[in-house]
Order: sequence, then structure tokens, then C-alpha cells
Amino acid sequence: MSNTEQENSPDSDIIFSAEDTHWMAYALQLAAQGEAIGEVPVGAVIVQNGKMIGEGFNQPISSHDPTAHAEVIALRQAAMQVQNYRLIGSTIYVTLEPCTMCVGALVHARIARLVFGTSETKAGAVVSKSRLLDNDYFNHKVDYVSGLMAQQCQHQLSHFFATRREQKRREKQELDSAPENE
Ligand SMILES: [Zn+2]
Repeated sequence: MSNTEQENSPDSDIIFSAEDTHWMAYALQLAAQGEAIGEVPVGAVIVQNGKMIGEGFNQPISSHDPTAHAEVIALRQAAMQVQNYRLIGSTIYVTLEPCTMCVGALVHARIARLVFGTSETKAGAVVSKSRLLDNDYFNHKVDYVSGLMAQQCQHQLSHFFATRREQKRREKQELDSAPENE
């Protein structure tokens, strides 16, 4: 097993502090706010010197903004908060593995550390489909670690998609059984 795999093992509890768990739990709450308005539940929190400077949940549908991922919302808020687009020494907590766009944004913002909950096997750009942060062509290195509260993060997403499938099934049933207009 390589060092990278050890560092990113979901079982390595030692790599996460109580502070890490606290912020990821809050990111899960943010994700639930997105879920409540019909968005895929993903939450993100940015912490600098022990203080939260940005937070966000996924909201591309409701905000008509394809870039409105949880990470981007949190990055914008954090940069405004500290009046600097470089969030030096910051940690971002995200419930789900970031996509290509968000990984790029984390590098631009000079985020020091990325902690994410569960992997995004279809399009994750950190450990799943590509490993962008392992490339050495970026001018900034983001340390990353995954698996914090992975089960809760995964369950939140699975529950959302299961509920949405069930809703669609019911809607279809109602349409099929509705009497035809005369
Ligand atoms: Zn994203």
C-alpha cells in the first residue's frame, strides 16, 4: 500500500480531529438545506485559523447557475469575508468528492487542505475518475483526505436519490391513472 492510499483510507480515524468532525457535521446540515429545496445535497464549509469564513450548499437549479456548487458558494463567501481571493491556510470540508470545476477553484483559492466525506464514483476529480490534485503542473498543492463521516454523507445522497426516484414513479402512476380530458 502506498502512502497516499494509507492517508486516504476511510478507516484511518487518527487523521481526523474533533474539529474536523465538528465541521463536517455542519457541512451535512448545509447539504440538508439544499435537499429541502430539491437540490442534490452537498454541503461545504471553509475554516481558517479555527474560524468558519464560508459556507455553502449545492444550488445550481434554484439559482440558475451551473457553477453554484457547494464549494464555489463557500469559496466566494470566504473570499469576501477575508477580502482576499487567496484563502491561505484554509481547510474546506465537503460532504462529497469535488468535481473538476471545484478542484480548479480550490487551487485558485490556494486552499491548504481538502477534507471530503464520500467519493463521487461517476465524476469525482480527486480520487475517483481523475486525480487532478496529484498533478504537479499546478502552482499550488492542496492536501486532501477523504472518508470523514463517509457513511452519513453517502446515506444523505442515497436517500435523496431514492426519494426522488419514488416521487417520479408516483407522478407517473398518477398520470397513467388520471381520467382523460373530454
Ligand atoms: Zn463541483
